[in-house]
Amino acid sequence: DAELPALDLASDFPILARPVNGRRLAYLDNGATTQKPDAVIDAESRFYRESNANIHRGVHWLSQHATELYDDARVTVQQFINAAHAEEIVFTRGTTESINLVAQSWGRAELRAGDEILITAMEHHSNIVPWQLLCQQTGAILKVAPVNDAGELDLEAFDALLNDNTQLVAISHVSNALGSINPVAALCARARAAGAVVLVDGAQAVAHQAVDVQALDCDFYAFSGHKLYGPTGIGVLYGRRSVLKSMPPWQGGGDMIVTVAFDRSTYADVPQRFEAGTPNIAGAIGLAAAIDYLSEIGMARIAAHENALLDYATAAVGAIGGVKLIGTAQHKASILSFLVDGIHPHDLGTILDTEGVAIRAGHHCAMPLMTRLGIPGTARASLALYNTRADIDALVAAIHKAQDIFGVRA
Ligand code: PMP
Repeated sequence: DAELPALDLASDFPILARPVNGRRLAYLDNGATTQKPDAVIDAESRFYRESNANIHRGVHWLSQHATELYDDARVTVQQFINAAHAEEIVFTRGTTESINLVAQSWGRAELRAGDEILITAMEHHSNIVPWQLLCQQTGAILKVAPVNDAGELDLEAFDALLNDNTQLVAISHVSNALGSINPVAALCARARAAGAVVLVDGAQAVAHQAVDVQALDCDFYAFSGHKLYGPTGIGVLYGRRSVLKSMPPWQGGGDMIVTVAFDRSTYADVPQRFEAGTPNIAGAIGLAAAIDYLSEIGMARIAAHENALLDYATAAVGAIGGVKLIGTAQHKASILSFLVDGIHPHDLGTILDTEGVAIRAGHHCAMPLMTRLGIPGTARASLALYNTRADIDALVAAIHKAQDIFGVRA
């Protein structure tokens, strides 16, 4: 794959042509959210111009047309992550809602006092707090597998924590703070052998590599449309059909029922059971357009481009005197976290912004991981398919400028 030519796709993304602070924008905050190609913006706009109606309830043509587009979007997602069945795809607001759905539906039905939930020390808050709430509600116990100084999961400790009481394992595919890639297929196999159900938080993975939920053999896989070049407010929960079918509803309302009477209601089959109320129809269609865009380029090409760029960025930023890279896992994707001696990450981010370089600074919603590493936060550059060496060169030049301003150039 290293033979493939670098991608040059910025012209597909109108916002990237917009100068920021009088500079060419080097958008390196893709871990927070990605920019949208014309294909996505146009698909969403076209839906409202030509096809807008509510779904699953209309006798009229437009409603049936909108329903078809929404159902087609589900199939597009199914094929993208190689799910066996379209009904294994539940549309949600995003990763956070997907995880809360599992916690409140599967978790409240299945967990008893003393049961254990195993997560890792590198999880995003959205793969920690829903489990804490569930533990408070059920008496289950949250266990945390540690990470080493490089930001890699300690696999021996993970194995040692897995036991007969472990009912659920919830792990990120790729760390949003450090970019570490977890060996999720192996972790799923171990967890399933121990009799646990596995949820994978794929928020930082789906945009950067091909994901095959059947090959991973996970029970749940959660991700957000907006980190995948799609709209905000739309996300996905993949659930293994047998597990999803066993789960009670979470939110109640229209669209998730078969019959309603005051003494008893009956519920729709999956996935409708978990999609109460009018969904984000335009968002689902926009997400499908994003997936079509990516599929046309090819996830293998995207991964090769980003991996080469991450290597370039790691070498270039790592070579700057006074810079310490945070997170040096052997297997990494798309994220470069670092600290600059004598400059607080927030100050660094502010100065970089004046140079047109957009990064994120802080704890990245992974406060326990920062505590483990003994730092309050990092500066984080996160890559997308439209980034090029010019963006990394702008980042390096802006770091030098910040060091000059603070008088800390090594
Ligand atoms: N998990 C990870 C690893 C993430 O990076 C994020 C977003 N930063 C989330 C979960 C939450 O995603 P969202 O805010 O889109 O629900």
